[in-house]
Amino acid sequence: MAFIAILSITILGSAEELGMEGGISTSISDSGSIQGISAADNAGAISQASSNGVVDEFIKDIRLDLDNKCTIDSAVEIERGTIDVYSETTKLTELGARTTSNLLADGSSVSIALSGLKGSNKATQIAGVGNGAITSVLGLDVGDSISAYQKTAIEGDQGFMGSNALTETNNMIVDGGFSGKGELSTELTAVADGQASMSGSVSMNGDTLIDSEGLQYVASNPIGVSTQGIFEDKNEDIGLFGLEATNVQSRTDAISTGEVWPGYRLMGIRWPYNPGVTQYVSYNSVPSYLPSKYGVWNEIVKARYTWQSATNEYTVGGTYWQFWTPGSYSYNNRDGWNTQTWTTLLGGSAIGLTRTWYSTSSPYVVGRDGTSYYTILESDIWYNANKGWRIDSWEDPNVHSTYDVRTIATHELGHTYGLSDLYAPGYWNQVMYAYNWGNCKWYLRSGDVRGLQRMYW
Ligand SMILES: [Zn+2]
Repeated sequence: MAFIAILSITILGSAEELGMEGGISTSISDSGSIQGISAADNAGAISQASSNGVVDEFIKDIRLDLDNKCTIDSAVEIERGTIDVYSETTKLTELGARTTSNLLADGSSVSIALSGLKGSNKATQIAGVGNGAITSVLGLDVGDSISAYQKTAIEGDQGFMGSNALTETNNMIVDGGFSGKGELSTELTAVADGQASMSGSVSMNGDTLIDSEGLQYVASNPIGVSTQGIFEDKNEDIGLFGLEATNVQSRTDAISTGEVWPGYRLMGIRWPYNPGVTQYVSYNSVPSYLPSKYGVWNEIVKARYTWQSATNEYTVGGTYWQFWTPGSYSYNNRDGWNTQTWTTLLGGSAIGLTRTWYSTSSPYVVGRDGTSYYTILESDIWYNANKGWRIDSWEDPNVHSTYDVRTIATHELGHTYGLSDLYAPGYWNQVMYAYNWGNCKWYLRSGDVRGLQRMYW
């Protein structure tokens, strides 16, 4: 849920309020030029709303309450940009209704959401962009079950998407986003029937972050999977992306994820023991142009010790070679080994990413701070073999055209232990602030240490 905060919008005080029968309310700032039609008929449950134009601020929330049996909420918000949106709800039968929303927008902040609630079932789709363009088609079918669909393409400085299906038995959440000029595309269907399930895929700059097989795996187990990565953005800067798919066997999310503290951010997950994780570096995958395979292994060992030495049990676990061919880069390579692998299967922009599976069922693991955490089961790190890599001999602050193995390994290992990326520019010096033009960052900073020590002894 962390990315949603990026695009929060406030309505101007000068907004003109238009109240419509049937639960439509629209507010438009008077500084823009926007044209629209709105029509609502609550009894017959027909609603149409269309708006287009150039705006400074625009927010439209539509709530339809169908015979007090189900509620449909749709919202569109934009700040400074152009928008063309059309939405329509039709009541099909006594039991059901269908809503579609089509959005084409370009602005400093744009978001769209569609949600249906009936009894204890709920399904939601949301997406948004900051300083960029979005094309989104949202669909909602409310019958005996609820199905929510989105097909979204985002290109901008920031973006986010979310999908949720909630039933009596489980809560399935997919939540992702990026910061740094990039592209996110999503096609997802969330179904709240007897069970909450999800299908579809999410990709970032062309790399698949989750596919239907992965979503099905999560939906049918009390499990979650997190993917966090660094990419080269289109402004020749470094960007960050993250995606979490979580299935909780209860209606409420038991663990609060994405907690933000000064200098660090927690994912809400940790290992069941102190961070003495046993890891395997794929021998065969290490790029042959690097000076020696042992040298690469040694850099990863140093990265590991940097983290472990900040805790009391730094002698536990180990880093070993994995000599067999590693599982190829795919969503479903959960094989019981914590591996670090160079892969050519990552596309042009990704530098490295960490994928971590965790159990969402109790008993939870209690951290040093007394808080409950989801239990990490496995964590794999992927390095993009299509990039240039090097081994540096000192914590070199200079910019290079290649990436220092130890620097990227140290950052990615932070994710393996349960720390999230940092975005706030004030934390640029922390290891978990992924801002790296090829320079080095080897040693933990105060925020990194506090984050680790909040979870581990
Ligand atoms: Zn990261």
